[in-house]
Amino acid sequence: MPVKLARRIMEVQPSATLAVDSKAKALQAEGKDVIGYGVGEPDFNTPIHIVNAGANAMKSGDTKYSAKRGAELKKAICAKLDRENGLSYKPEQIIVSNGAKQSLYNLMQVLVDEGDEVIIPAPYWVSYLEQVRLAGGKPVIIETDEKTAFKVTPQQLEKAITPKTKLYMHNSPSNPTGSVYTPDEVKAIGAVLEKAGVYAISDEIYEHLIYGDIPHQPLAAVSEKLKQQVITVNGCSKSFSMTGWRIGWAAGPDEVIKAALKFQSHATSDPAAFSQAGAAEAYGNARMSDEAVMQMREQFDERRKHMLARLNQLKGVKCIEPLGAFYCFPNVSGVFGRIFNGSSVKCPMDFCNVALEQASVALVPGEAFGSRHHVRLSYATSMELIDKGLDRLEKLFNS
Ligand code: PMP
Repeated sequence: MPVKLARRIMEVQPSATLAVDSKAKALQAEGKDVIGYGVGEPDFNTPIHIVNAGANAMKSGDTKYSAKRGAELKKAICAKLDRENGLSYKPEQIIVSNGAKQSLYNLMQVLVDEGDEVIIPAPYWVSYLEQVRLAGGKPVIIETDEKTAFKVTPQQLEKAITPKTKLYMHNSPSNPTGSVYTPDEVKAIGAVLEKAGVYAISDEIYEHLIYGDIPHQPLAAVSEKLKQQVITVNGCSKSFSMTGWRIGWAAGPDEVIKAALKFQSHATSDPAAFSQAGAAEAYGNARMSDEAVMQMREQFDERRKHMLARLNQLKGVKCIEPLGAFYCFPNVSGVFGRIFNGSSVKCPMDFCNVALEQASVALVPGEAFGSRHHVRLSYATSMELIDKGLDRLEKLFNS
């Protein structure tokens, strides 16, 4: 007899990313040499001073529930917010979760009621949409494209706000587009939110991965008034190459964080104590961490420029320069209508299927992020693999 699952989960869309990813894995299992540009994680080891802090915590018996470690990490996060972002928070205004993903999930659960509208700029990181749906909310999408470098204009935001709007999702630098809002652009978005009294979640998890001279402007730092409406989400995964440690956090108004802590206390409790010890070192030892982040950023930057140049040499592919995170997000609609060994390409999903089946290169179709024209490639991989994969794509698409 088929299991009757809850409506809540039945309404969640299966991830379009997973379809290509599982196909890529199946091909790899068959022994095929598939080059993957799919994953959103740095390929570097976690910096050694952080690894040592985590390992020492574990060896010294820090293997229990984490009240003590929790307090230490929250203090280090408050100091980081003050030092890097000009934001003053008390430890009670911080929640540390099992990854930024859980911080975001908690926030949706405590802020969004049945029928509330949450404005999400597209292309978006897919979990925003599904987390809003899981909370019973209604995602309201603002479409963006290359004309504004995938950034929402204040006019677009103003138009999308209705009496039912509860939240706005801001993400800069952005996954998947790599776009970075300038300080003036963040201020203009902030002014609209402030005037409308709409809450915002600002996902700043890629803040340390910006190339060029645009400084990172935290949304909460736009004004004291706006700070009362903004919850900043951040974490260790991308900055310090700590995806497996599962440490993310949120900073915001007391009431919101208190509610999120209550929610998390019944869902998972706090993350592992030794992971928190590693994170406390990452934020607390700024001298060593800054050095490690700078080195990773330099390598990402080289790969970014190289992948961008090579993508723009593919026939029918156009990619604007991504200024942050570690993704290229090329427009592949110039390839639509072409046929490769009998397979016609009419959408990003077709493009990815052809790339995988005929060139053994795995990419993520734009449909996963709300785009019908783009694909995403992560350059968090070696130069050698960037060249190898792009050679294959060139052979397929330029012939
Ligand atoms: N936000 C964005 C925009 C991301 O790309 C990711 C990771 N892919 C996350 C949040 C979640 O990161 P984590 O749960 O590893 O902290």
